[in-house]
Amino acid sequence: MKIAVVGFGAAAIGFLENMKGTKHQIHVFEQSKDVYSSSISGIRADGKLFVSEQMGGELEIDPELQKKMVDFYINKTKEKRYETGTSFGNEEFYRQFYRKGFQPIISDFYHLGTDQLKEVLFNIYKDFSSYKNIHFHFNHKVQEIEILANKVILDHENDFDKVIVAVGRSGHKLVRNIIKKFPEIVSDNTKVDLGVRFELPNHIVEKLNQEMYEFKVRYRSKTGYTVRTFCNNPSGYVVTEKYDDFVTVNGHSKYKEKSETTNFAILTTVSLTVPFDDPVGYGSYIAKLTNILAGDRKVILQTYDNFKNSKRTKHLYRVKPTLGEDNFILGDINLAFPRRITESIIDFVENLDKIVPGVANEDNLVYAPEVKFYSNKLNNEMFENLFFIGDCSGYTRSIIYATVHGYLTAKSLK
Ligand SMILES: Cc1cc2nc3c(=O)[nH]c(=O)nc-3n(C[C@H](O)[C@H](O)[C@H](O)COP(=O)(O)OP(=O)(O)OC[C@H]3O[C@@H](n4cnc5c(N)ncnc54)[C@H](O)[C@@H]3O)c2cc1C
Repeated sequence: MKIAVVGFGAAAIGFLENMKGTKHQIHVFEQSKDVYSSSISGIRADGKLFVSEQMGGELEIDPELQKKMVDFYINKTKEKRYETGTSFGNEEFYRQFYRKGFQPIISDFYHLGTDQLKEVLFNIYKDFSSYKNIHFHFNHKVQEIEILANKVILDHENDFDKVIVAVGRSGHKLVRNIIKKFPEIVSDNTKVDLGVRFELPNHIVEKLNQEMYEFKVRYRSKTGYTVRTFCNNPSGYVVTEKYDDFVTVNGHSKYKEKSETTNFAILTTVSLTVPFDDPVGYGSYIAKLTNILAGDRKVILQTYDNFKNSKRTKHLYRVKPTLGEDNFILGDINLAFPRRITESIIDFVENLDKIVPGVANEDNLVYAPEVKFYSNKLNNEMFENLFFIGDCSGYTRSIIYATVHGYLTAKSLK
């Protein structure tokens, strides 16, 4: 079979790993100019791999297969070094959080770091390129997919027996075009996660960082919304993520270079009902509104106390932001975020402070907007020759789940 894979991210890697050296001819189309160049993705920044049945996606995946994929990535580093921990493996921590109303998420973590990811990606690419059945086409953004009974045509010129769409979240335009033609392919689209990136001195969360590396909890706030932590970065850095029409915040950490602060996202899941059907539109508008207040392509930074009391921040005190000052403006996030969301976040922080004193310190830093879109859930059984794998399918939200999704899809086609 002649198979096209659109996108070269985590899901494509899993697919190719299981297809290399087979009789099928695989053509990979990637919009970036080479293997390193950035699309916004955890496969190029941070690289925190986790094994968990409670998060990372909505597929049932055997933890052993997840661990096999973790080892696959670790084995692609030169020195095979990584940081590791287990979120809530320690019973005492588990109980402390549980007692205060938090739902601790159990998960094993393996952190490679942004610096090591470059060599990981290159080594993966080098390995795949050495197989005669795998052909890479960089600098090729697929714009159009036409599905016929016995073939699929990319951009009006290339015919394939099957096409695997693995464009992650950054490829939403291509997926949107397909959905426009076949709206019945969408099985669910109601959720978006909106929130902030929180930054505080390492020493306040030292015990958590040492014990777990990443602490993952969910909390049912007084507003009824569920709030969760996401992407904890001990000694990490806050960064901006630049989309075509708005800018958000994110965080990462490096294996070697360390900062004095820890950052993590605090996200509120907004799940709305009919007639609402545009979570991406809703999240984007709030992100844009925040950017309008912050000025051109910037985010808002506020102290926690000012955030809590709806006051514009004019000065910072002890905590120094790791985000470069060209990227933010001191301001008031409350002018952009709906009250129900800010109240949910504040309720979360105040309760976390009961277990980790200092989390609610006045001068801790709050950056906005942090937005996590859930892709539409797509029905992979609708076509015999077109499949969606990884985050664009709506069923994965992490490197390992996306990789396994690709791996299993390849297995089913072999
Ligand atoms: C900043 C950031 C940090 C993250 N950190 C982590 C982490 O530490 N751990 C974790 O588990 N998860 C993390 N994630 C989530 C993780 O990156 C994704 O869940 C995972 O990479 C999904 O894999 P994927 O293959 O579906 O998409 P991706 O890995 O995003 O790959 C999609 C690829 O498709 C390409 N593409 C898009 N559109 C087109 C097109 N039209 N034509 C050709 N190519 C196209 C893109 O350039 C990209 O290379 C992070 C996400 C972000 C945004």
